[in-house]
Amino acid sequence: MGILSEVFAAVADVAITGVGAAFRVAKKIVSAAIPRIQAAIAIAKNTWNHARSQRSAESIGAEIKDVNDHLSQLQLQYERTGKVDSELVERLKAQRRDLKGELRESDEFIAASDISANEKEYDAFIIDNDSTHIIEAAMGQTVHNKPCPKCKWPMRLQWNRKLSVTSTSDLGWACTHWYWKTNGAHVCDHWEKLHPDDFQIFAKANRPEFTDLTASQFSDLVLAHQPEVIERMEDVLKDSQINSINAYRCPVHGEPLVLRKKIQHNGTLLDMYHLKCPRWKGVNVGCQYMDKLKSPAQLHAFLSASTGQGVF
Ligand SMILES: [Zn+2]
Ligand SMILES: [Zn+2]
Ligand SMILES: [Zn+2]
Repeated sequence: MGILSEVFAAVADVAITGVGAAFRVAKKIVSAAIPRIQAAIAIAKNTWNHARSQRSAESIGAEIKDVNDHLSQLQLQYERTGKVDSELVERLKAQRRDLKGELRESDEFIAASDISANEKEYDAFIIDNDSTHIIEAAMGQTVHNKPCPKCKWPMRLQWNRKLSVTSTSDLGWACTHWYWKTNGAHVCDHWEKLHPDDFQIFAKANRPEFTDLTASQFSDLVLAHQPEVIERMEDVLKDSQINSINAYRCPVHGEPLVLRKKIQHNGTLLDMYHLKCPRWKGVNVGCQYMDKLKSPAQLHAFLSASTGQGVF
């Protein structure tokens, strides 16, 4: 658990994204929750040296990377020799699970600190077809508290893959196990429409791009500035300090996804960029988890998380 899930625990199954957007949080809950989040942060900061949630995401991340390196060495060894110390593999996997738990606490701590400091930018929203950009902004980010009912893997926000135009009814939770295959078939293809309660979202969206613009106006505005947005994405692409960020992580490896550019794109902004696991080694080699940045709101959220400034 982390600070946010503890505060929201009263309202049961609140899903929380990597940047602290929370689903199923009604307006009346928010006014009570914010002071509790602020109090929790104040207490945590007083016990800085004791609270485990204070450990930096970088230090947890470095440890998880070591574990993944070790596991891939063992995998190579197994491929070469047919032998593996399976107890060691299980121990490393357990260690990785614990570290992912720590990352979750760290995510929630960072988000709670931001809520505490920038209270006025956060609010509860009821999403309709004019404000889908608030949900789209959270798409592809790590989601806590939303396990797949079939296989227990974490789910993520996703559009219905079969459709190109989006309205609220095309948004759903998709199992991340989909990206793994056995004998050519997706391990789990569970997908569910957002529940009506999921449209009650607490997010850092009390900002003009969300409150003064409809989703389609927002989209048109971003697309009218394609060359500038591409230029900014290219800068991030080249900068190893910011081209992988904690809000977007591989559900298995726990490492931040890395920004990549499609080799054969059609020249438009929405077809150019995606995030891939650093353990990706090629088509069907290594980790296949990925996140396409294919909506203006996603690009906005990604730029905002990586550079501190969104599209505008
Ligand atoms: Zn599943
Ligand atoms: Zn311009
Ligand atoms: Zn991965």
